[in-house]
Amino acid sequence: MILRARIVITMDGPPIDNGAVALSGNKVVDVGKFDEIKMRNGGEIVDVGEQALLPGLINAHCHLDYTCLRGEIPAQKSFTDWIRAINAKKAKLSSKDYLTSIDEGFAEAKRFGTTTIANLTAFPDLIPQIEAPIRTWWFAELIDVRAPEHENEIVDRALESLQPAHNSGLAPHALFTASADLYRRCQEIAPQRNILLTTHLAESYEEMEMFHDASGPLYEFMKNIGRPMEDCGNETPLERFLDLIGSGRLPNRPRAIEVNRPYLPWIVAHLNELAESDFELLERSKRQFHIVNCPRSHDYFKHSHFPFERLRSLGFNICLGTDSLASNEDLSLFAEMRAFQRREPAISPEEIVKMVTLNPAMALHQEKMIGRIRPGFCADLVAVQCSEHDKPFEQIVGFDGSIDWIMVNGKM
Ligand SMILES: [Zn+2]
Repeated sequence: MILRARIVITMDGPPIDNGAVALSGNKVVDVGKFDEIKMRNGGEIVDVGEQALLPGLINAHCHLDYTCLRGEIPAQKSFTDWIRAINAKKAKLSSKDYLTSIDEGFAEAKRFGTTTIANLTAFPDLIPQIEAPIRTWWFAELIDVRAPEHENEIVDRALESLQPAHNSGLAPHALFTASADLYRRCQEIAPQRNILLTTHLAESYEEMEMFHDASGPLYEFMKNIGRPMEDCGNETPLERFLDLIGSGRLPNRPRAIEVNRPYLPWIVAHLNELAESDFELLERSKRQFHIVNCPRSHDYFKHSHFPFERLRSLGFNICLGTDSLASNEDLSLFAEMRAFQRREPAISPEEIVKMVTLNPAMALHQEKMIGRIRPGFCADLVAVQCSEHDKPFEQIVGFDGSIDWIMVNGKM
């Protein structure tokens, strides 16, 4: 099959005017000017018209469990109050509610041109009942604050539930809800099973207060539910995290990972609260991980400024995510790109589009499969209205609506 479009954005070279992509099954086999592609390849021609054809978007951080909580939690005065509010809502939800929520979330993400999602779920046992319509990395969210010393069982149970899911990972929730042993266990297992890891880190000022000063609303809340608090009052959340995952010491590389590529299993969400000493530490340790910024969830919570420029200049791979609808209004990565652009107007639209294509593909260790249009890559594509052909990236970031043409794994 040959797909022709007014412009093809490969994310692998300059945009191609009057371009085409040749497909065989679920793979891209050729890409270039329409005339040339027609000469080199046979098969049915599908014209997507006056649109830009680009790689399907990749959401690097999401919780589809909470799609049903859209608009349910008004912005709170404090992050800790929001945790209380979401816990109260969650107490009223059944497994059936969560299944519906996840299904509706998938459908919505797809309507907004997302073909791959990194989805954290607190209910990995529901995964076998779900048919994901897009490429999905399932991360089992792990919390042991109410079950201390059961971290091994919690991890083993999650791994069992994840087995049917082809692409998977573990997500110790955050430093304040997951124990040091739980983080260490995840860090140990990831290379053995060749799975990814993700966590929430340095998201709120209250988390910084808790770990650095042993005070504040989050400190009091966690102490009241019985969390041991000896790890508070010394380090920043980032220092604590790097201590736990063994600063400087890289985990053993899984056999399947190429020797010339750094093995970076962690995708760290947020990092809004960093002290000067954290930047010095990052510079010194040369420690790397992938980072996800969730611009609209960030705005909802009114967190401190996300230090994009500084983290980028330290060489970090930075992606965008939507977070859940308990702190966001929809699952559109286009809206996420615009929210990011409002805060970082100096960053080019092309670089912003990379944050939902190339960069998350790298975070998911799939940079040779998704995130670009290139021979050998998966046929995950999306078409976006594009009337001003000389500014395609501006048009993509500005796209406000639902997608009317999408292909996932070669299927329209
Ligand atoms: Zn999150």
